[in-house]
Amino acid sequence: MTTLDDPVPGGRPGDVERATALGAELSARGVHGIVLAYVDTAGIARVKTIPTARLVSAAAWGVGMSPVFDTFLANDSIVSTDVLGSPDGDLRLYPDLAHLVVLAGQPGWAWAPVDRITQEGERHPACSRTFLRRVVTDAARRLGITFKSAIEVEWMIGRGSTAGDDFVPATSGPAYGAIRQVELSDYTAELLAALEAEGLDAEQLHPEYAPAQFEVSVGALDPVAAADRSLLVRQTIRAVAARHALRVSFAPAVTAEGIGNGGHVHLSAWRDGANLHAGGEGRYGMTAQAESFAAGLLAHLPALTAVTAPSPASYLRLKPSQWAGAFAVWGRETRESAVRVITGSTGQCGRAANLEVKPVDLAANPYLALGCLIAAGLDGLESSLPLPEEVTGDPARFTGDEARVRGVRRLPTSLEEAVRMFREDEGLRAALGPVLADAVIAVRLGEIAAVAGLDDELVAAAYRWVY
Ligand code: GLU
Ligand code: MG
Repeated sequence: MTTLDDPVPGGRPGDVERATALGAELSARGVHGIVLAYVDTAGIARVKTIPTARLVSAAAWGVGMSPVFDTFLANDSIVSTDVLGSPDGDLRLYPDLAHLVVLAGQPGWAWAPVDRITQEGERHPACSRTFLRRVVTDAARRLGITFKSAIEVEWMIGRGSTAGDDFVPATSGPAYGAIRQVELSDYTAELLAALEAEGLDAEQLHPEYAPAQFEVSVGALDPVAAADRSLLVRQTIRAVAARHALRVSFAPAVTAEGIGNGGHVHLSAWRDGANLHAGGEGRYGMTAQAESFAAGLLAHLPALTAVTAPSPASYLRLKPSQWAGAFAVWGRETRESAVRVITGSTGQCGRAANLEVKPVDLAANPYLALGCLIAAGLDGLESSLPLPEEVTGDPARFTGDEARVRGVRRLPTSLEEAVRMFREDEGLRAALGPVLADAVIAVRLGEIAAVAGLDDELVAAAYRWVY
């Protein structure tokens, strides 16, 4: 179970005892260090590490970290807001011991996600994991609704031995092809073993569409754990690749043209153990609440892209006819709409029905993305927003007038447009709170400025190896 309580100075109740036992067990297993993992507003996974012997101290008093990282850009330069970006101040990082995992892909290391509080024990308003914990605990307390989520991970595998920063595919086989599976057989087998040893519940691993692209899908968990899992899956994919002299990219667009890497989010809302997306009176068995939840997602999606597709490179991916979900419409089992309704097969709908949100990539901070998606859906649910008509097939086929009549809306085509929509969406900004909302805007504007004047190839190159 995810620890949903905020950390407190001196340690969450029971954590010091737990860390004492855990530290001894880790040392006995040859674990020398612990990776404390967090993601910044720009979507970059950043870490601190501690020797295993310091775990008890970290559980009690946290590990120091500057708040300046909340306004770092992907190129490691720094922007600022009214309250963030200053070199002053300190925060404490607290590991969530319930999610501490021994890393199979990095012998000698364990890993844990962190929450951040101030030295005075206050919530840090820009902590994205704390934000997501707050969104899910509020939904449970106010509405009795809980969520399950999983984030798909797509990545491209390049040769690690090439000079420079070009992408050289590590396998040349066709999309979804057996050749790729054979050529990368040792790497992918070791990866499956590592994912299993880390308890990551891989469901599928397959060669994807783009050159040397693969995908892994994992089982659904509570949203905070799902976001943690997404980070750890990527850490593991990268670690195992490094052992095979391979280089991996989770960037939305590894090259300017063609299919990119998505990070599709699967999300379902539950009450009293029942899945709200199945067994209802609405379309495809959705309950009225599930329909309104989907409607809320669609209504906020243009603004949400500033969070779910946060990189200038995201808009090289988020194009029609690339299965990236570039239109704010929904449809059952359709791969071009932003929201795909998944019913599951006869006999398993109650367990499997969910919504898949496609305009999400792996440049997104998964805590911010899930928190904002849930807040958007709940806004629809609480205002009983009607779900528009379904749109199937590729919405790109509609001319301007047809698109208008059917309510087919193209999602932002650039980060600039996404930021504009985000600024106009007061509900979404309120859900994030002013400090995080301002950080999102400042960091996105910083990314836009960082690549101003570059052509698409250079934009792809700028973000190719950072996510
Ligand atoms: N690679 C596609 C994307 O960018 C997704 C392909 C698929 O449907 O799995 O989102
Ligand atoms: Mg895929």
